[in-house]
Amino acid sequence: MDIRSIKGVGSKTAELFEKINIRSTDDLIKYYPRNYDCYSEPVLIENLDRQKVVAVKCIISATPRLISANNKTIVNVIAKDEHNSPLKLVWFNMPFLKNKFKIGMSFIFRGRINYKGCDIQMEQPEIFTLAQYEIKQSEMQPVYALTKGLTNNMVIKSMHFLLDNMDYEQDYLPDIIRADYNLVSSKEALNNIHFPKKMDEMYAARKRLAFDEFIKFIYIMNHFKEDNRTIPNEYVINEDDRINALIKKLPFRLTDAQIKVWNEVKSDMAGTKVMNRLIQGDVGSGKTIIAALALISVALNGYQGALMAPTEVLAKQHYEYFVNLIEQYDLPVKISLLTGSMTKKEKNREYDRIEMGISHIIIGTHALIQGNVTYDNLALAITDEQHRFGVNQREALAEKGLSPHIMVMSATPIPRTLAIILYGDLDISVIDTLPANRLPIKNCVVDTTYRENAYRFIDKEISLGHQIYVICPMVEESDNFEAENVIEYSEKLKKSLKKNTKIEYLHGKMKPALKNDIMERFAAGKINVLVSTTVIEVGINVPNATVMLVEDAQRFGLAGLHQLRGRVGRGDAQSYCIFVNTSKDAKNNERLNILNKSNDGFFIASEDMKLRGPGDFFGIRQSGDMGFNVADVYTDAEELKKAADVMKAITGNKYVLSEEEHILFEIEMNKQLEKAMNHINL
Ligand code: ADP
Ligand code: MG
Repeated sequence: MDIRSIKGVGSKTAELFEKINIRSTDDLIKYYPRNYDCYSEPVLIENLDRQKVVAVKCIISATPRLISANNKTIVNVIAKDEHNSPLKLVWFNMPFLKNKFKIGMSFIFRGRINYKGCDIQMEQPEIFTLAQYEIKQSEMQPVYALTKGLTNNMVIKSMHFLLDNMDYEQDYLPDIIRADYNLVSSKEALNNIHFPKKMDEMYAARKRLAFDEFIKFIYIMNHFKEDNRTIPNEYVINEDDRINALIKKLPFRLTDAQIKVWNEVKSDMAGTKVMNRLIQGDVGSGKTIIAALALISVALNGYQGALMAPTEVLAKQHYEYFVNLIEQYDLPVKISLLTGSMTKKEKNREYDRIEMGISHIIIGTHALIQGNVTYDNLALAITDEQHRFGVNQREALAEKGLSPHIMVMSATPIPRTLAIILYGDLDISVIDTLPANRLPIKNCVVDTTYRENAYRFIDKEISLGHQIYVICPMVEESDNFEAENVIEYSEKLKKSLKKNTKIEYLHGKMKPALKNDIMERFAAGKINVLVSTTVIEVGINVPNATVMLVEDAQRFGLAGLHQLRGRVGRGDAQSYCIFVNTSKDAKNNERLNILNKSNDGFFIASEDMKLRGPGDFFGIRQSGDMGFNVADVYTDAEELKKAADVMKAITGNKYVLSEEEHILFEIEMNKQLEKAMNHINL
């Protein structure tokens, strides 16, 4: 139903909702909180954390004053906490409050603290009686991502209305299965993801929602996968001496792990059955060269191969790397680049070259799978997915050819058991060692007082000719999220670093052409410091970058930070990661220090989960997501296994279900499948 069917949502509010992509009630119900506000214990004024929202228990110590200034009325109240420290409270345009407060009365005020001269002051705080606050403390308030004009309260009200008036469909998951696998009902899950009373309820809700996403994913995957292992190989790729010569002439020696994986790929492509292989390797392990060898082999055998990257920047980078390789080794191979931001004319030219078989290697973004592209003889489809593509897109690329060889490259190390569930019947190769020239990255976790040192260190690294990444969580300033943002931070840096330092910023909301331009200039060494959001996380390779400074590091999931730090330490110089914990919570240091102890992404993620607090789950998503809304392969590994088991149990008729139960399940799954199919026929 249209979002306007909700009481209180008129066309104006509907417009605001539309800005955050909410058009229907269904969109709204799936708009899960970004965080939860827990009304915490009141604190003493002497222990206040600047800029943080806090609650203070006070006794009114002076008669309120009402002032008028610039068409505004201001109510001023002085109160004192239990240690007699004074707090000034200020409300605008709420004159009626003057009569609410009498000397000697106790209240709890909650808001953000400001320091005005020597006054400690709170503007527009929320007001609670002690009893009211106690009730609040036993609840968790959802915090939603907002847009200008839309308040958290508006979303909460709409959500309450929707949940109270919703006609809950019957759960597609039969009771008996839910009981066996310890899953709450959809109804409970929806209510408790938005308005949990306790953490446990939120966890249980989240588990069910993650389970739903996984089981639908598995259903789609099963649908797409025929028994790939039985497809005969129509494109037998013979060994070519020029490949071995190329390997010999590379500026580095392949690691043993790379050689092992390359041999597996080679023998697959020369075999009797088509290749279906997942290549896992941590960031920096050198997956690209394996893709290059495979693609060039295919080209030298007279066929076409395609490589699909998750972002334009990455596609372009791969393209340039390949062009270089081909030129350097003087190979008779032609390469095309195909991305969304190319002009129609440029695209048409490439379409022709691809269709006529002039291009042998085609590199691009999902533009590679769009309708207008016709391949001449596609024999190999590679997705460098870093988990950004779904099965359906991978499948769509494969369908552009007649059963081509398939190779999927992934940087997220997940245990074999999970990989088997997520990747169906792909064979798995692992590049399990890093090139020998790599020095381990030196990490440190610091507080904000260390910044000056960090800047001097950055100056020094730049003077040695190295480059720097600075990561901030935010694009621009926002009202309801206190964190460093790339735009303001780069301004600040200009004042803090040596004069003439070239600083640019990068974020996901920028036009692709601009992003490409900045990345290219950074890669070419024309920019010293790149201040960026996590958009750089995906696969960028600038071996000359040696320092990564992460602001508000405590706001990130550790798996994400692990991926991020993979952007440095890619060359032979010593690299450094500086994680700035901007909170005063020492627990965050403990958590961040896990990054010092291990380089194993899965270990890091699982340790991370043990130490996280309530508000840390939805803040900034773990990296390595596969386009799920809540589900996370690391966090919800249990649910992933459950989903695989339940799917097996249902399709294998392990449960005696009624016809109605079967139909309900099928309908729900098919809805999802239909969406996935629509996605393919873009
Ligand atoms: P990823 O596995 O993250 O995709 P890349 O393929 O981008 O890693 O490789 C990272 C860097 O390591 C590149 O600069 C690449 O040229 C280099 N590299 C790859 N293999 C080796 C090797 N065996 N020895 C030294 N450097 C290598
Ligand atoms: Mg890569």
